[in-house]
Amino acid sequence: MREWDTKEYRDREQQAIEALRAKHPKAGGISVLWAGWIGLTDDYLTEIEALLPEGHRIVFLDVTEKMGGARVRLRVEPPLLQDTRSAIHDLDTRKPDGLWWRSFRTCQVCGEAAGIRCSKDGWFTVRCEEHADGTTPWKPEDR
Ligand SMILES: [Zn+2]
Repeated sequence: MREWDTKEYRDREQQAIEALRAKHPKAGGISVLWAGWIGLTDDYLTEIEALLPEGHRIVFLDVTEKMGGARVRLRVEPPLLQDTRSAIHDLDTRKPDGLWWRSFRTCQVCGEAAGIRCSKDGWFTVRCEEHADGTTPWKPEDR
């Protein structure tokens, strides 16, 4: 077990996800893999909700991780028109301050400023120094 992974940490994580769900009652099925990204997810949901046409709702939002960064799966019902779908997609990956880019600068554990790190066996992660768990800062020249 990692030092930071305590019952208190898990309790705070659970409270944060419940607060996120309470703040976004029109979004069902919110799931966030890393507690440190709950704040990013909150901002993202606020932006999505501003774009949703009347009568639409978020049925499912899942924020997981791939190659260190946040990966979003989102389902809205009824289905959106292409323009709105594209606008929502842009929020995630194209905006420099969007969820995806910010996730590479936000510690997965605590939500503080962080950088991309790499484990000895080659897994990418985004962690601050306090939650590094034996990983080392990744530099592109390390490839
Ligand atoms: Zn941290």
